[in-house]
Amino acid sequence: MSFSELGLHDDLLRAVTAQGYTKPTPIQLKAIPVVLEGRDLLASAQTGTGKTAGFTLPMLQRLSNGKRPAKRQVRALVLTPTRELAAQVGESVSTYGQHLALRSHIIFGGVGQQPQVDALKAGLDVLIATPGRLLDLQQQGHVDLSAVEILVLDEADRMLDMGFIHDIKRVLRLVPKQRQNLLFSATFSNEIQALAQQLLNNPALIEV
Ligand code: AMP
Repeated sequence: MSFSELGLHDDLLRAVTAQGYTKPTPIQLKAIPVVLEGRDLLASAQTGTGKTAGFTLPMLQRLSNGKRPAKRQVRALVLTPTRELAAQVGESVSTYGQHLALRSHIIFGGVGQQPQVDALKAGLDVLIATPGRLLDLQQQGHVDLSAVEILVLDEADRMLDMGFIHDIKRVLRLVPKQRQNLLFSATFSNEIQALAQQLLNNPALIEV
């Protein structure tokens, strides 16, 4: 099956083709239709399987389909454990979304916050962040998560290993109850299952 048969729009197909991808990977075949439908997802997938495109492509399509609010607001939030992963996801969002009129930015700790604050002020559709810096900026009044429609936890097991559970729970209190949730984890420990239970609503399960 091809990317177009999965129901992706031409704007995204052009970006995918420009990357030289000829056919979807197994995780993409399974995840893209589920995410396009608006369903919650619990997926076990290692890095290298193409999981990033598996969630960013349909996420971008949903955002570009939906009615854009009058004011540009964060409508998709992707949480990652590390700045490296945030940068990688941010790169994918920019690449795959190059023909869409959506704005994204990456936020992580260990660097000056002013450029991040400026990007937030200018208005973003997609925010990719590590939890600590996100909450710092939120407490300073720079982040509004009240319009989030899609929440992604990428490499959730690593986030828990790194002690981010309380930060994740704080973020969950800042986003609307009504939203789509995507949880990616290489492993399904008891803690991940507990988080999934709390976070996900009748999720599709994907293991690759
Ligand atoms: P990920 O697992 O998301 O970190 O992706 C691993 C690598 O696979 C990245 O370098 C992607 O650019 C590449 N990739 C993703 N999807 C495809 C595809 N359908 N065909 C070929 N390469 C891909």
